[in-house]
Amino acid sequence: TVSNWIYEFENQVHHRGREIAIIHNDQARTYDELNRSAAAFAHWVRERSATRVATYLTNCYEFYIAEFGTLKAGAESVAANYMFGEQTLRYVLRDSSADVLVVADKDLPAARAAIQGTEVRHLVTLDGPSGDGVTALADIVAGYPHYIESAPKDDHDLFNITYTSGTTGTPKGVMKTHRNIGAHVSNLVHAWKLSPASRWLCAGPVYHTSGLESSSLPVLAAGGSVISLRWQKDAFFRLVDRYRPDSAYIAGSMVVDIADYPHPERFDLGSLRQVIAGGAPMPARAYQKVLDRYSFVLCERLGMTEAGIIFVDKVGRPGAYEPREELPAHIAGSCGSPLYNQTQFRLIDVVTGEVRQEGEGELQVRGDSVFAGYLNMPERTAQSFTEDGWYISGDIVQIENGHARHLRRRDEIIISGGENVSPRTVENVVSAHPDVVEAAAFPLPHERWGQQVCVAVVVRVASSVTPTELLEFCSSGGKLARYEIPKQIFFTDELPKTPTQSVPRAKLTERYAAVRK
Ligand code: ATP
Ligand code: MG
Repeated sequence: TVSNWIYEFENQVHHRGREIAIIHNDQARTYDELNRSAAAFAHWVRERSATRVATYLTNCYEFYIAEFGTLKAGAESVAANYMFGEQTLRYVLRDSSADVLVVADKDLPAARAAIQGTEVRHLVTLDGPSGDGVTALADIVAGYPHYIESAPKDDHDLFNITYTSGTTGTPKGVMKTHRNIGAHVSNLVHAWKLSPASRWLCAGPVYHTSGLESSSLPVLAAGGSVISLRWQKDAFFRLVDRYRPDSAYIAGSMVVDIADYPHPERFDLGSLRQVIAGGAPMPARAYQKVLDRYSFVLCERLGMTEAGIIFVDKVGRPGAYEPREELPAHIAGSCGSPLYNQTQFRLIDVVTGEVRQEGEGELQVRGDSVFAGYLNMPERTAQSFTEDGWYISGDIVQIENGHARHLRRRDEIIISGGENVSPRTVENVVSAHPDVVEAAAFPLPHERWGQQVCVAVVVRVASSVTPTELLEFCSSGGKLARYEIPKQIFFTDELPKTPTQSVPRAKLTERYAAVRK
């Protein structure tokens, strides 16, 4: 088990100092370079006795300097979601009581405003110049010693705080200890057989688990190379062609970009064995299109900020590669099999409370990689765990032949006339109409049935389909049970989205409650 991630990294620096750790913007940095810069930042952090360092950055090389420097100094890191606006950023800074904030130079004005009323005492930009109460990371790297003895850490010491996506409410600060991260990282190193030969294109945002603890950290712990990308579909294809990664780790929404990309045959994608996507429901049409158009394996993962990856398709794993066509049908559409090592899981029947390993139920997880609690939310934390320490995920999952399928979130079920309606079932039917780009089902209150099923739909620009025609489409051919058939369809230009592209259904209920008949 990786007990202290930073020691693991330093071990790789020792053995593989001259090898490439990170490539970003066509610049390659070695393990030595990264380690030296991080050491300089660690000195600066220690000199200020800073205890929590927040970053407000998109994927970039400097993020890793700040993150690893913070850890070397023995401080804790807080990654603020770069998609957050000034208000949510201020909330995160206050909630986490960070004392340092690292931002890109262009975000300095926003950062100055956001730190008002917070405990942030030091602002760091990337390039500089330093001055006017701001220090540039470039000056720190140039001006401080390039070696530091990393602070020893106990298993239960905090490693970082990552905020959830806020799909179901205000983002929650998820506290992870060194043991949590170590366990998750070793779990992934084993599952993916990561080694110094691994080259991973990491496109998940670094302020979520997807960009950091589920992808970059395991690759670097294993001595591999990270090709870092702030998502852009052209760059994805160009980087695969140029840097020959064997795997790519992306957010779910990026699958659509890959599926629809014009003329991918212009690029040599031959090195790419697997693309790991997930973190949100996999868009079915795009999924199929990727399978049809590309030779790499599209793996799905299921996880959450609180517990990391629980299930992942491991078919693309080196040595276990099988083409998709040869897989049993049930695997297509599944989000993988469990990562066993440090995570136990079980399913709880939502009606009877019966505990099971297969079938359908609410997913509960336990083990070293499960988080230590929500920051400043003791009650919420207590409600999220059973007495014997299982994390209650709120996700309804089906497991068949060892393969998991995410069905829905517990709280998003629509109850109409006493019948349970899963929004995703309805969305799949609506989305099958050729003119529909995206659909999201949600409940509106109804006097007689309690709730009625409604759908917000984005249709193609050139489409002439009407809501009434779509309603007919849904009710014809027995595609849906009577109680599942939407009662109202609203056309919209855009669905509300969280920064991770999931749809907060409660926002739709709010938006359309006013116009309901
Ligand atoms: P919040 O907790 O603030 O409401 P969130 O749950 O969306 O936001 P994340 O931790 O980023 O925040 O997302 C984890 C959730 O994403 C899981 O609990 C699950 O509902 C969903 N999810 C993850 N992977 C998949 C997948 N493969 N298919 C469907 N849903 C998934
Ligand atoms: Mg959640």
